[in-house]
Amino acid sequence: MRSYSLIAPAKINLYLEIIGNAPGGYHELAMVLQSISLADRVHLRANGTQQFHCACNSNQVPQDKTNLAYRAAELMAKQFPQAFNRYGAVDINIEKQIPVAAGLAGGSSNAAAVLVGLNLIWQLGLTQPELQELAAQLGSDIPFCISGGTALATGRGEMLEPLPDLPPISVILAKYRSLEISTAWAYGTYRQKFGHTYVSEPEALLERRQRFHSGSMIAAIAHQDGQKIGQLLHNDLEKVALPAYPQVAQLRSAFENTDILGVMMSGSGPTVFALAESPEKAQQASITVKNTLNHPDLDFWVAQLIPCGIQIDH
Ligand code: ATP
Repeated sequence: MRSYSLIAPAKINLYLEIIGNAPGGYHELAMVLQSISLADRVHLRANGTQQFHCACNSNQVPQDKTNLAYRAAELMAKQFPQAFNRYGAVDINIEKQIPVAAGLAGGSSNAAAVLVGLNLIWQLGLTQPELQELAAQLGSDIPFCISGGTALATGRGEMLEPLPDLPPISVILAKYRSLEISTAWAYGTYRQKFGHTYVSEPEALLERRQRFHSGSMIAAIAHQDGQKIGQLLHNDLEKVALPAYPQVAQLRSAFENTDILGVMMSGSGPTVFALAESPEKAQQASITVKNTLNHPDLDFWVAQLIPCGIQIDH
C-alpha cells in the first residue's frame, strides 16, 4: 500500500514521580502512562518525490521541519536510505483533535504514527521493540505512544513494561484554551526547587525503582481497583505548576467536588483529567465543573481509557 491512515491516541499520566537526574540533562522518572480514546488522525501518502511534506489543520502546530512527525520521517529516511530511495517520501497530513502543548503527548503520538506508517509503506518489517528503540532517539514519550495501553515507564520514560488493562473507566479532560505550560519550564522549575531531594547513586536509584514496582498504584492496577487508582493518582509536577498557575489549581478543586474517582494534572499540564466510573458520571462531572467555573475559555472532552497505541484506521 502507498497510503495509510493511522489513529494516534493521547496519553495521560496516572502517576509521575521525579526521582533524580538522568544522563543528558533529562530526569529519571517513575510513571504509569495510559492511552485514551481522544486521538489525532495521521494520513501518510507516498508522493513520488524525495521531499517530505507536512500539513496540519491546527495553526498551533508547525508545518515545517520542526514538526515532530516530520522529524520522525527524516529519522526513518536517515536510518533506511535504501528503502527511502526505493519508495520515496510521503505527504503527512495531521488531523488534530488532541489539544496542543497540553501534557497529552499529541506531538509524540503523531511521530509514533509516522514511524509505524513508514515501517509499513517502506515494507521494512521492523518489530515493535525495534521501532521503539528508534523512537527513543526522538523523544521520551514516543516509545510508549507506539505500544500504548497501560504501562509502567522508568528511565526518562522510554523503559517500558506493560501493565494489565484497566477496568472500563471514563476520563474527563479540561483545559483553558489559551493556557500553555512549557514542559521545559515545568521540569526546570522542579529541579530548581527540589533538586536537593534527587537520588543519584545507582543503589539508591535501584531501590526507588523497586519501591515503585511494588508500590500501591501498581497493586491497584493489578487488582483492577478503580476506586484505589483514583485515590492514588500522583504527579510531582503539580508542586510547581499549581502555585504558578492558580487557574489549574482551581480547575482541579472544582472536580474534587463532583462524583469522580480522582483528579490530577496530566504530565507537565495544563490539562487536568478526572477519572469517572461511567461515561454518564464523566459527562455529569464536566457539566458541574463547567457551571461552577462558568469560564468561556474552558474546553472539556470525555474519553475512555484504551488498551492500545497507534492503530491503522481501516
Ligand atoms: P508532552 O506531553 O509530550 O510534553 P505536549 O502534549 O505537552 O507534549 P505537544 O502537543 O506534543 O505537547 O506540543 C508541544 C510543542 O511541540 C508545541 O508547542 C508544538 O508547537 C510542537 N509540535 C511539533 N510537532 C507537533 C505535532 N505534530 N503536534 C503537536 N505539537 C507539535
